[in-house]
Amino acid sequence: MSGGRQGKPRKTCVTCGREFEWRKKWERDWERVVHCSERCARAARSARRAKRS
Ligand SMILES: [Zn+2]
Repeated sequence: MSGGRQGKPRKTCVTCGREFEWRKKWERDWERVVHCSERCARAARSARRAKRS
């Protein structure tokens, strides 16, 4: 394939709402990835916890 500027899939972060690009480190988990970064993942986790307690 040639001519495509970008072959990487993208998603929108559920925490910050920004688009992020596929990364090598997610190659096995991409379907599960919903956050653009570790930071957003943590924020989501702590938010969930906060709601419970
Ligand atoms: Zn994010």
